[in-house]
Amino acid sequence: MSIITNIHLLKNRRTKIVATLGPASKDPEIIKQLIQAGVNVFRLNMSHGDHDFHKTTYHHIRNIADELEAPVAILADLCGPKIRTGKFREGQIYLEKNSRVTVTTRDIVGEPGLIPSQYVALSNDVKPKDHILLNDGALELVVDSVSGTEITCTVVYGGTLKNHKGINLPGVSVSAPSLTEKDREDAKFVLELGVDFLALSFVRRASDVSELKTLIQESGKSTAVIAKIEKPEALENAEAILNIADGIMVARGDLGVELSPEQVPVAQNQLIDLARSKFKPVIVATQMLESMVENARPTRAEVTDISHAVTQTADAVMLSAETATGAFPVEAVKMMDRITRQTEAYQWKSGSYDTLANTGLRAPITIWNAVSNVTAQLARDLMVRAVLVISQSGMSAATMSSARPSAPVVAITGHAHNCRRMALLWSVIPVLALDAGTMNPNDLARRVARELQIADTGEYVLLVRGFHSNPAKNNPSVTVLAV
Ligand code: PGA
Ligand code: MN
Repeated sequence: MSIITNIHLLKNRRTKIVATLGPASKDPEIIKQLIQAGVNVFRLNMSHGDHDFHKTTYHHIRNIADELEAPVAILADLCGPKIRTGKFREGQIYLEKNSRVTVTTRDIVGEPGLIPSQYVALSNDVKPKDHILLNDGALELVVDSVSGTEITCTVVYGGTLKNHKGINLPGVSVSAPSLTEKDREDAKFVLELGVDFLALSFVRRASDVSELKTLIQESGKSTAVIAKIEKPEALENAEAILNIADGIMVARGDLGVELSPEQVPVAQNQLIDLARSKFKPVIVATQMLESMVENARPTRAEVTDISHAVTQTADAVMLSAETATGAFPVEAVKMMDRITRQTEAYQWKSGSYDTLANTGLRAPITIWNAVSNVTAQLARDLMVRAVLVISQSGMSAATMSSARPSAPVVAITGHAHNCRRMALLWSVIPVLALDAGTMNPNDLARRVARELQIADTGEYVLLVRGFHSNPAKNNPSVTVLAV
């Protein structure tokens, strides 16, 4: 057994990194360092910060990415019907185990024994014996009785409760719409800015995603939608949701409260497989390097968690508070980059990439699966340096990426917004070529391969093109090309 010391065995990292921006990372100099450390997609979290904040950071990211010529995407994350507590007179209260406490939907300032909820329908949605979890499940109440706006509860697990903490109601069907008024305003604002992805929180069914897609269409945009899977209903409807959404996020923070924590790893595994089978990207999120919010080094369990997501071939792993409010934002990205590279180097060396394509499917399989799997096998058998894909919309790139080939996927497009969007896809190196629609494809592929120094003259690459969502235009081809 030997330890791999060259974590740059693969020049290009396969697993992408999503980093959340916040007060700890909003300055241009930090954004620059984050991109240089390996961030592929930035997340603007609409649960925090006002429009001015997001507008300023949005422009900083775009300017710095242009300056560095880095294909970096921006994802705006809409709050959805996240239920939160209101404010407390002293900023916080203490909940004593077994004590009585009232949750009210009146618009008041809270005090010891009285918790305001910002969600006015709460008292209609809960009934006696329901459980109310506070602050990501750290505190728990059980409902004794409901009378008008007042919900009387007993504290099951106590502790300190601060302003604006999350409320989860496992097993309760929440009547709030998936796209709240605030979400609609936020969505219009970030669409106008020009973000590449919109994520929607607390999706329950496919129609929640359609609603957002309609709003996007009405704004004259084609922005991609990532559905956050963080409710049990969403897990049940995952396939239908994925048919409509452009990708998903395994939102383990809320999912671990809405389900029990031990159910999350299996759900993660199933969601990654499902997303791959639909040729759509999947992000694994939350608490990946949580201890680095305060410490310069992660726990060993966190390192293993990231490595596991890499082995499962998630498209991307995400940082939340680590980069938004933590003390070590750049170090967290560097650490994530090193962990993913170390595991990928091992996968590469041990030949496990060569067995990743979905080759066990029973015929007849879809053209997408068949061609991308065969290409992945060709890539292995010929040991080509890269799989180049000419992909105007990004669809051919996503399809090729889903087969998880051992050679890097170089995706060439003529559209800047599609180029940025491909930054989220597993192993995809997005390349913008304004002549992608007109130039001879073989010449274009050779030129890009040389420019990227991914293959030398005489070495082989594969060129894939022609996947289309319209069956009449779906004529994919694979060409073996000497550079
Ligand atoms: P959040 O979503 O950070 O917006 O809550 C992710 C999660 O719940 O894991
Ligand atoms: Mn969440």
